[in-house]
Formats: sequence, structure tokens, C-alpha cells
Amino acid sequence: MPKYIIGVDEGTTSCRAGLFDVDKNEFVKIEQESLSIYSPHEGYVEQDGDEIFNTFISVVEKVLNCQEAKNGEILGLGITNQRESTICFDKKTGKCLSKVIGWQCRRTAKMCDEIPAHFKKYIKKTTGLVVDAYFSATKMKWLIENNSELNLYRQQKNLCFSTLDSFLIFRLTKGKKFITDVTNASRTMLFDIKKLDYDDKLLKYFEIYREELPSVISNNQIIDEIELCGRKIKLCGLIGDQQSSLFGQACFECGEIKNTYGTGCFMLANTGEKIVDVKNLVSTVAYKLNGEKVKYALEGSVFNAGSCIEWLKDVGLIQSASETQELAEKAKDSGRVVFVPALTGLGAPYWDMNARGLLIGINRATKKEHIVRAVLESIAYSTFDVFNLFKKNISNISQIKCDGGVSKNDFLMQYQSDLLNLEIVIPQNYETTLLGAVYMCALGIGVFSSTETIKNVWKKKKSFIPTIDVQTQKRRLARWHKAISRSLNWRSDEKEKN
Ligand code: ADP
Repeated sequence: MPKYIIGVDEGTTSCRAGLFDVDKNEFVKIEQESLSIYSPHEGYVEQDGDEIFNTFISVVEKVLNCQEAKNGEILGLGITNQRESTICFDKKTGKCLSKVIGWQCRRTAKMCDEIPAHFKKYIKKTTGLVVDAYFSATKMKWLIENNSELNLYRQQKNLCFSTLDSFLIFRLTKGKKFITDVTNASRTMLFDIKKLDYDDKLLKYFEIYREELPSVISNNQIIDEIELCGRKIKLCGLIGDQQSSLFGQACFECGEIKNTYGTGCFMLANTGEKIVDVKNLVSTVAYKLNGEKVKYALEGSVFNAGSCIEWLKDVGLIQSASETQELAEKAKDSGRVVFVPALTGLGAPYWDMNARGLLIGINRATKKEHIVRAVLESIAYSTFDVFNLFKKNISNISQIKCDGGVSKNDFLMQYQSDLLNLEIVIPQNYETTLLGAVYMCALGIGVFSSTETIKNVWKKKKSFIPTIDVQTQKRRLARWHKAISRSLNWRSDEKEKN
């Protein structure tokens, strides 16, 4: 009888479940449903907790009902999720008490600005994070300050604050388990990444009680057994999406790097047991396996990549994402048009919540394809700026393993390789985020004995090698940095009217 592990990726734009054949080492079925994203006010990004949970169940049930699953054994189910996005719910019933405040939401930008400089330093030292509205702590504080109903739950000790992993697990286990894993915890801005515990000083500052937060487990710990579609399924494997793809890309050695081009762009390097502290980059937990020492990662998060492609659709310049490649190639160059993708401020290495997007260099000859090309190029430039800092702090980088929806664009991957002057490698198994959760489950339930097994099954599909000269590279970068400097600090003054 074939043996399967189900991996579920609760992402930003969609929820995906995959049925992974353990012997064939491949997904035999993938189900996906999209998720709504709301923006009720400028800079706000929200999602709906019930929709996320129902979609999660729906994709898993679809997978369980496929013929392969019916005829096979389900060994376990691992989960990976969009990180930082925050929700609060009732400890007694699991009822959502707020919308999900999305990781891209900027509503707490001002709150972040108001944190004193010395405390920002303390936060970086303790949590590894650069203070930003991106992380969960200010989202939690905002919820307390803006929803008086929560006080009642708080007084009765029925308030739960969490990232989406804990919320899903809480509901899946019918309230039995209120847990998170080390990687998700490390994104809350409340977690001491050395002690692997919430930090009391931070809890006090953000006015969160310890019992309102989930307890923290390692990534391959067995969580519980649940029942779905009449089948008993072991829950095992919990990991934030970017760490999951680092794991799924088999980046287990110090200095191995992956870059995921999804809604945003996330570059992570495994730094082993060492925390590498770099100004304007984030140090974070890469993963922790049962009984082993924690591994750390250096991370650069670019907030907008695929979201820019979606924006091109929204404004009607393209119908589908795949068109972008042909249009970019048709243009031959961007006609000196530069796009700065600050659609929700700028993340690493600029961390400017007040930056706004920019399209500059347009003239009468500018065509649609120039703009589309400039948008694609901007994703490569944003990645360059992050990589530049990686290069200064990590030795012996020989390649970057890339994945995510936008990396299907060969034009972009070649442009990226040219800009970085580095080999870009695409894996055979594209579903690296799902794979991380599946591998965590496999290690937890004993199907895989160690990460060596994963290393042996990881295969390269293709790679891109740099082709341009240094002068061209320098010229392109100079133009990009000129544009970036103009988009920085474009404060969106709420009082400023059109
Ligand atoms: P997430 O996990 O963040 O939801 P995905 O990794 O699923 O993101 O990638 C989805 C993104 O990839 C979408 O924004 C989509 O526009 C973009 N995308 C898909 N195919 C292409 C392509 N060929 N060229 C450029 N962008 C693409």
C-alpha cells in the first residue's frame, strides 16, 4: 500500500495541500484554493480567520478524497504557514475575536516609530528583528488598544493571541493544543531567540500576558492525532513558510541560501548554530529538530514581488502573470524606466514604512512592455540590495537556490543571475515550501532518519549563469539606487488630501 504524508501551506494568497508519496519522493496530488485579502483603509491588509480555517479544511479534504489517498496510508500531516500575520480568538470556543492583521499591514507603522531607539536596540539584540509593523507584537498591541471587547476576554483569561499556525492547530485539535513552533514564535518580536522563550521585558512593553500566547515546540514534534474524512491523522511538522522552503531546499549547511519569489521575496541563509547580527537584516530561527541544537538563519524580506505582478493585473496592463516574460523579452530593455516596488513600504535593507512606489523615466516612447519589464527588473534589484548585505557577512556563497511563483519567470531569473553575478539554481521539485512541512513530518514520525535523506533526494532542475559585464551591471544599479532614494520617506500624511 502506498504511503503518503500530507503537507499544507496556508499562504497569503492561497491555501495549498499536497499528497506526498514517500517512496516516489514526489507530490501525486495538489489542491489549491485562493484566499481573500481585504484593504479596508490605506495601508491596511486583513484576512478572515474563518475563511482561512475553512479553506484549510476544504483543500485537505479534497486531497483525502482523491483516489490515491483513498488507496493509501496517510502517515501524517505537516503544516507551514504565512508568518507574522496575527489573530486573536476565544480560548473557550476558538471563535475569532478579530480579523487577521496581515504581515503586509502597515497600521502600526506609527507605533513602531514611537518605540525609543534604545528599546529598538534591545529588540534587535533579543529577537534578532528590526522593529517594523511587519512583525506580530505591534499588531497584538493594536488589537488591545482598538477593541475594548477584548478586555472582557482578557479578564476571564480567555484571550489567545497567535500567528496562524497556532490558530489552525487550536481549531484542528478542538482546543486541546495551543502551541506554536520556534520559527513562528521567532517572528512575533516577543521571543528571545537565544533562550527560545518569550521575553518578559518585551511582553511587558507590548502589554501581552504570557498565558495569552501559545507554548513553543520544535519543528518536528508530534502534536496530536485528529480525525478528518473519517480517517485518523497524526499532526506532526509545523514551520513558518520561509523557513519551510529553506528546509525543503535542503539548505542544511552554513552559508547555503535560498530565495523565494512569492507575494514578497524572502532570502534566507543558514548560519548554523551562530546568530549572525547584521544591521538592517533579520536574524531568525531557521529550525529546531527534536533533541538537536537550534539552527539560525539570516533573512532579508522584500515585501513586494508577486504583489507587483498582481498590481500589473489590477491596473489592466496584463491579463495573466505568465505574459510578463514575453513582454519583458519583447522590450529588449526597460527604456530607462525604473519601478520601485514600495507598494506596502520597503522592507530589507531600507525598512522604510513611509516609502511609496515609484515609476520614473517615462517618456512619449514608453510602451506597456517597458513598464512590465521595469516591474520584473525591480524584483531583481530589490533582491540584489539584500544579497549585497549577505555577501558581506557570509563567506563562500556559491549559488542561490530559488523557488516561488515568480521564479517561473526565466527572464527574471537570468536578469537576477546577471545582477548578482552568481549561479541561480531551480530545484526539480518546485513545491519547496510544502516540502519543508512534509520533511518535518517525515523526520518527526520516523519515516526519515535524518536530514541526510533529504539531501540525497534534492535534485536540481536547471540553473542560470551570469552573462553581463561589470560596467553594465554598475550602470543598471546606479539607476536603480537613484530611483530608490526618491521613493524613500514619501510620508503618506493622513491629513494630506488629494
Ligand atoms: P504566495 O505563496 O506568496 O502566495 P506563490 O509562490 O504562490 O506566492 O506565487 C504567486 C505569485 O507568483 C503571484 O503573485 C503571481 O503573480 C506570480 N507569478 C506566477 N507565475 C509567474 C510568472 N510566470 N512570471 C511572473 N510572476 C508569476
